[in-house]
Amino acid sequence: MKKHFRNLPIVKFLIKYYKAELMIINFIFMLAIYFYINTIDYQLNHLTYTHIFYISIVLVGSLVGPYAGLIAGLYAGILAGPLLPRDLLAGTAQQFPDWFFRLFMFSMVGLLSGILSADYQKLNKKMEDYLIQHPDSKLYNINALQHINLKDDQVYMVTTILIENYEMITEVLGYKAYYDFLNLIKTRIQKIYKDTYVIFPEERRLWILKKSDDYRDEIQNIVNIMKHIKDNIEQRLFVNFGLGFDTRMYHEDDDLSQYFISTDMTAREAIKRHILYLRYSNLKTDSRQEYEISYDFIESLENNQIFMYYQPKINLETGKPESLEALIRWEHNGVLIPPNEFIPVIEKTSLIQQLTKSVFTWVIEYHIELRNHGLYVPIAVNISAKNLYDVSFYTNMMAIFNQYDIQPKDIELEVTETVLVSDYEQITTNLQRFYDKGFKISIDDFGKGYSSLSYLSKLPFTGIKIDQAFAKDILTNTANQKIVESTIKLANDLNLDVTVEGVETVEVRDIMKAYHCKYAQGYFFKKPMPKNEMTQYLLDTIEKQTKKH
Ligand code: C2E
Ligand code: CA
Ligand code: CA
Repeated sequence: MKKHFRNLPIVKFLIKYYKAELMIINFIFMLAIYFYINTIDYQLNHLTYTHIFYISIVLVGSLVGPYAGLIAGLYAGILAGPLLPRDLLAGTAQQFPDWFFRLFMFSMVGLLSGILSADYQKLNKKMEDYLIQHPDSKLYNINALQHINLKDDQVYMVTTILIENYEMITEVLGYKAYYDFLNLIKTRIQKIYKDTYVIFPEERRLWILKKSDDYRDEIQNIVNIMKHIKDNIEQRLFVNFGLGFDTRMYHEDDDLSQYFISTDMTAREAIKRHILYLRYSNLKTDSRQEYEISYDFIESLENNQIFMYYQPKINLETGKPESLEALIRWEHNGVLIPPNEFIPVIEKTSLIQQLTKSVFTWVIEYHIELRNHGLYVPIAVNISAKNLYDVSFYTNMMAIFNQYDIQPKDIELEVTETVLVSDYEQITTNLQRFYDKGFKISIDDFGKGYSSLSYLSKLPFTGIKIDQAFAKDILTNTANQKIVESTIKLANDLNLDVTVEGVETVEVRDIMKAYHCKYAQGYFFKKPMPKNEMTQYLLDTIEKQTKKH
C-alpha cells in the first residue's frame, strides 16, 4: 500500500523536486510575514517581528544547501530592510547601517546553517556507507541489500560467483590483490550492464543482481567477462571459480538474500562438476550443452595430467607394428577420463585448438625420441572437425612442425568421415595444404557415415580406417563381410592404405588378412599404452634402423 502511494506520478514529482518546493514555500512564507508586519497594529517595535525570518532562512539553509541559505538570507534582509519602513505610520526609511547589518546577519545564518547541515549529511552518509560497505575492498556488503530498490513484478538475474581457492589467492598474492581482482570483476560487469548491483557477502563470493532482459545473452556476457579476467590473472595465479545463475521475479517485501540460496548452491555444484557455470534450472537435468568444460582442463594441460597413450598399427603381412596412433588421456582427480567424454565438450570451445597444438607437439617429440632409440615409427594424430574449420589451422601446425627436424611423412592425420561431408570447402582447403606438403591423411571411422569411397575420392587423403563396428560382427554378418571385402579391394585399387580398427580376436584378424587388408589395430594386438611401455614394446618387436629415413 505504502509503495503504491509512492508510485503515483504526482507523489514522485513532489519527492523529486522537494528542494525547489521547500524554497518556494519559504519564500512565500517570508513574503507573507513581510506584509503582515507592514499592516501590524503593534505593541512591540514592529522590527522585532523580523526575527521570524530566521525560521525560514535556517530551514532553507539546512535542508536545501549553503547557497540557497545565503540567498534566503539576502532575500529576507531586503524584505526586512530597504522595503520595510522604520516607522510604519510615518513611512520613514531605515538607516542603511541598521538594515545592512541585519541583512548581513541573515545571510550568514543562512550560509552557516547550510554548511553545518551539509557537513552533518556528509558524516551521516559516511556512517551509512560504513554500514553497507566492506571497509577494505569498498564493495557493498550484505547490509546493502536492504537499500536496494527493485521494481515490482520485474524479472531479475541472480548470480553467484564462487571463488573456491580464495584462501590460496590471498595467501600468495595478499588481500589487496584479491580485492583488486573482485573490483575488476565489478567494473567489467558494470561497464556493460550499468544498473547492476554487485554485493560482497563474504570472502569467497560475489553476488550479482541485475534486471534481466535476455537471460541467455546475459549469462554469456558474464561468463565471457570471467573468462577474460581469468586469462589476465592466470599468469600469476590459478583462480578456480564457478558461476551459478538463476532468475527471480521480484515482489514487494521479498528478502533479497534468499534469492542467492539457489545460485550459491548452483555455483558450488558447477565447481564440483568441473564446469565453468551452471543454471539453477539445469542443476537436476544435467544438460551438457548448457555448460562448458571446466578450466581444470587448462590446468591439467599444464600439469601433465593430460598426456598421450599410443596404440600400434600392425602390418598384417609381417605381423609387426609399423606405425602408431596417438590417443589422448586425461587423468583427473586420479581417474582416467576417456576422450569420448571430454573431447566433445572441448570441441565446443576454442580449447580444442590449444589441445591439438599440444598433441601435435607431444607426438612430434615422441617420434624424435623413438628415432633416438634407433626406431623409425610414423605416428597418427586425431584431428577434430573444429580444427579443420579454423582458417589458421595449417599455419599454426606448421609453425610447430618447422621447429623440429622431421618430415611430413612421419606424421599422419586422422579425420573422421562424418566431418568430411559437412562444411566442405574450408575443410578441403586445410586438408589439401597438408596433403600437398606430404602429410599422410586417413579417413577415420570409415563406413560409419553414409558416404561412399567414390564420393570421398575427390578429397585429398592417403588411407582409410574401417570403423570398429565392422570388425565387431564381421564373423556373423554376411552383408558386412561383402561391404568390407569390396571396400578393401577398392581402396587397394586406388592405392590407399587400409587399416581395420577394433580387431579383438584371431578370427577377425584372419578374415581381414584374407581380404588383403594391409594394417590392423586392436586389443588383439595391443591396447593403447603409455609412452615408456610403447618404447619398450617397439624395441622388443621391430628392428632398429641404422640410418635415418
Ligand atoms: P578413434 O580415433 O576411433 O580411436 C580408436 C578408439 O578405439 C580408441 O579409443 C581406442 O582405444 C579404441 N580401441 C582400439 N582398439 C580397440 C579394440 O580392439 N576394441 C575396442 N573396443 N576399442 C579399441 P579412445 O582412446 O577412447 O578414443 C576415442 C576417440 O577419441 C578416438 O576414436 C578419437 O576420435 C578421439 N580422440 C582420441 N585422442 C584424440 C586426440 O588427441 N584428439 C582428438 N581430437 N580426438 C581424439
Ligand atoms: Ca583415430
Ligand atoms: Ca576410429
